[in-house]
Amino acid sequence: MKIEYLGHSAFRITGSKTIIVDPFLNKNPRACLKASDIRKADIVLATHGHGDHLGDSIEICKNTGAVFVAIHELTLYAQENGITKTEGMNMGGTIEIDGIQITAVRADHSSCINVTDKGGYSGGNPIGFVVRDGNRAFYHAGDTGLFKDMKLIGELYKPDVSLLPIGSRYTMGPREAAYAAKYLKSKIIVPMHYNTTPLIRQNPSELKMFVNEFELDAEVKILEPGDYFEI
Ligand code: ZN
Repeated sequence: MKIEYLGHSAFRITGSKTIIVDPFLNKNPRACLKASDIRKADIVLATHGHGDHLGDSIEICKNTGAVFVAIHELTLYAQENGITKTEGMNMGGTIEIDGIQITAVRADHSSCINVTDKGGYSGGNPIGFVVRDGNRAFYHAGDTGLFKDMKLIGELYKPDVSLLPIGSRYTMGPREAAYAAKYLKSKIIVPMHYNTTPLIRQNPSELKMFVNEFELDAEVKILEPGDYFEI
């Protein structure tokens, strides 16, 4: 499984399928590519309706024919915008697409979609995703604060990699993310959702510091947009 950071909370994960998560690309000056650069994708996951997460999901699904996966209300929005292949979910549920198991898990956050002249859509509740492809699994927390049920996510789904927001203000900061890592027990922790704007400025090495302070058996991988690793 190859995990590639595209900037902010956007990732491209390539295993038996190509999965894009939260592709905020065209309007993110720090993103390493544009939506039109993504030629191949099988599944697009959007954690919630905020523009920096739903991002360019619709364009990428149109360009690639990927299935759009999100909370039910967001899939209605996608359908209204011309996406025919959608899979709606809600928290606690698991679906399987071409052998990839996708579980929607809780996220403590808010959501909305910009209201257009076509009418308004509820963004539904924000979610996180646990995705299993064969013997590898990753957890993308979306935007969230720390919550104790992350311990259940760790126990039930055993993600090898956890992608955690550290920007603070709108999500967890580095200290809370390190505490989340303690619950999740992933061997690899990747910080996301920081330094895209001055409002979420953070030093990601603080996450390493807290992971050491909590004496966790986890490696923190600090990625620049375009960086990747394989597990
Ligand atoms: Zn958000």
